[in-house]
Amino acid sequence: MSIHTDLGIRPLINASATLTRLGGSVMPPEVLEAMQDAARYHIELDDMQRRVGAQIAKLTHNEAAFVATGASAGITLAAAALMAGKNPAFIQQLPDTTGMPKTEFIVHKSHRNGYDHAIRAAGGKVVEIGTALNTHEWELGHAINERTAAVFWFQGAMTGIGDLPLVKVIEIAKARGVPVIVDAAAQLPPVENLWKFTQMGATMAIFSGGKDLRGPQASGLCVGSAELISAMAMNGSPNHSVGRGMKVGKEEMAGLLAAVKRYLSLDHEARLLKDERVVAKWNEALCGIPGVCAERSWPNEAGQPLPRTRVVFDPPYDRDAIIAKLMAGEPAIAVSPGKANDIYLNPMSLEGDEAEIVLNRLIEILS
Ligand SMILES: *Cc1c(COP(=O)(O)O)cnc(C)c1O
Repeated sequence: MSIHTDLGIRPLINASATLTRLGGSVMPPEVLEAMQDAARYHIELDDMQRRVGAQIAKLTHNEAAFVATGASAGITLAAAALMAGKNPAFIQQLPDTTGMPKTEFIVHKSHRNGYDHAIRAAGGKVVEIGTALNTHEWELGHAINERTAAVFWFQGAMTGIGDLPLVKVIEIAKARGVPVIVDAAAQLPPVENLWKFTQMGATMAIFSGGKDLRGPQASGLCVGSAELISAMAMNGSPNHSVGRGMKVGKEEMAGLLAAVKRYLSLDHEARLLKDERVVAKWNEALCGIPGVCAERSWPNEAGQPLPRTRVVFDPPYDRDAIIAKLMAGEPAIAVSPGKANDIYLNPMSLEGDEAEIVLNRLIEILS
């Protein structure tokens, strides 16, 4: 492959997760073809954004849809739109929020994560509710005031058992006229999540285009309120705005549309069964090795309903040394560390005979 030889990059098998630092996911042929097709022609960019959005909205049973350069950019644009709306002076002014009436974004303390940068990048102020362990209804009620722009809900590994249920958050916020935005970046599968959060009453749900959707790496999908989405478009590229640097190309728009179409037509049941077979095979083979125990782990680290294999090592096996050896091989193999002397093997991004290569390499290292 020329990208490897030309740049001297080592090929890598991703048995970890659809992590951005590993290139996210790989694009299937229909997505690549759509991007290539789009790359050949001039178009009116805002017209294309509207038409692609309308198609994706229809396909995903949403009022409207918008293509961003990633879930993180979608959060920033949503935050900008929730503060500046369509007011040209405010759009011009962000991230300086002086004089803007609504600039506060309520977030569960337990949800705080690296992506709240995306809210602050637009100039938004994050207001925490609850503790790391639990959050009460009165805390949300008390935090909502006339400066509240929205409640942001982060769905995934950070969502905890002590959180207010999302339905409750939506009920309380909506009753006070406050929008609820769900960061669902890694919440595919299940495919129904493309409409589940908005049907629950969330104002918007935001997905990464470059994770399991296998769209362009620099794409994100925002679905929900048409009013919010038209304000996001005004706060985004090509307009001179806080979102100007988050330029969405025609190729990303076409690629994401193709990726959504593909994802909706996939046999998700068959995919699950394939991953289950891989995990069962890994477990059986690895459990035969003295000092090694392998078990099925469910759901995976992002809370997706897909299995992984957790491999636990007895001393003197050292988890970090094993991870380093897997990465040092040719091809390199990326896996995830656990919390103890253990690793996770994730089949979700593996293709062809990669599951076998991962198993054989691990067995070789352990013997
Ligand atoms: C991956 C992820 C993001 C960022 O998605 P990008 O498409 O890479 O911008 C944001 N929030 C959560 C919870 C994520 O898992």
